[in-house]
Amino acid sequence: TPKCVKPTPIPLALYGGKHTVTMIPGSGIGPELMEFVRQVFTVAKAPVHFETVTIDENREDNTDLEYAIISIKRNGVAIKGNVDTFSADTTVRLSNVAIRNELDLCVYLMRCKSYPGVRAKHENVDIVVVRQNTEGEYCMLEHSIRNGTVVENLKIITEENSQRVAKYAFDYARKNGRKKVTTVHKANIMKFSDGLFLQTARKVAKDYPDIQHNDIIVDNCCMQLVTRPQQFEVLLTPNLYGNIVANVICGLIGGPGLVSGRNYGAHYAVFEPGTRNSGRTIANKNIANPVAMLNASVDMLYHLGYVQHAKVIENAIFQAVAKDKVHTPDLGGSASSVDVVKKILEYI
Ligand code: ATP
Repeated sequence: TPKCVKPTPIPLALYGGKHTVTMIPGSGIGPELMEFVRQVFTVAKAPVHFETVTIDENREDNTDLEYAIISIKRNGVAIKGNVDTFSADTTVRLSNVAIRNELDLCVYLMRCKSYPGVRAKHENVDIVVVRQNTEGEYCMLEHSIRNGTVVENLKIITEENSQRVAKYAFDYARKNGRKKVTTVHKANIMKFSDGLFLQTARKVAKDYPDIQHNDIIVDNCCMQLVTRPQQFEVLLTPNLYGNIVANVICGLIGGPGLVSGRNYGAHYAVFEPGTRNSGRTIANKNIANPVAMLNASVDMLYHLGYVQHAKVIENAIFQAVAKDKVHTPDLGGSASSVDVVKKILEYI
């Protein structure tokens, strides 16, 4: 029986009325954005204590990574930036993928909603991407043969994980007043793997007669997204297509600086900027857009049950971005990261 995704039966770390959560600043712009999260939580008086765990991107072994995973297991919840892994040693694992796989964070959810006031290719977009997060092309089962002239890569799709993510998408739709789930696939070519994903989604859909289900081939999905994104409500996707279509949608509504992403499994939850960028070339220049990371911190507060704190910060972000239009260069503005955060703090 597939494990359900939502319940968190392991108690979260809560000491003296404060939740402890793991903070992994990550590479590039990650550390400066995490400082903003700290500032915002201090001013909003959010009862959260951070256990900061740094993963060295040039590490020679997996010790940092193991420690990060133990910390998330202890606390139940984490907020993270994107962690680059530069070691040439193939036994050193890719941190981002290893965290998701080892914690069995089988669902990735991104709500890609237009901000009024942000200049973008399309307006009034509100699409939720529910992406399988641990298998498909991300199993890291790659090897080369014939002296590197032939490479094989195993794409794994299981009925169990397809069912978990499909149930999550339909439950989400039902709970959040969405009427339609669209499964994205390439089952015309990958008949077995994507075929299983699609078949499973269709089976799960039968338990949700109140939610409409249709499907679309991933290439057509990208074209439809670029021309008329408003037609989609919830996209249910395997791992790689989810990454691509979510990036397309973020591009349409304002880029990588706005939308957050949530990793969920049966026991743990990890929050991060949705498109998982390191932004190395813009690091330490005070120009990175802090909104995606702050939205990730809002998601985390909702998850911990601090609805009031979450709403205050969410509203402050909305006022600063949509009403006052304090925009960093990625949104066509000239504000610095600090200007945006200052405005948000004023509203809080
Ligand atoms: P970089 O050379 O900046 O590291 P990259 O090719 O590795 O870029 P990513 O880190 O994946 O790309 O980021 C993709 C693009 O999005 C880059 O141009 C990056 O500067 C930009 N970007 C990512 N996050 C943000 C942000 N929070 N604010 C503004 N721009 C961002």
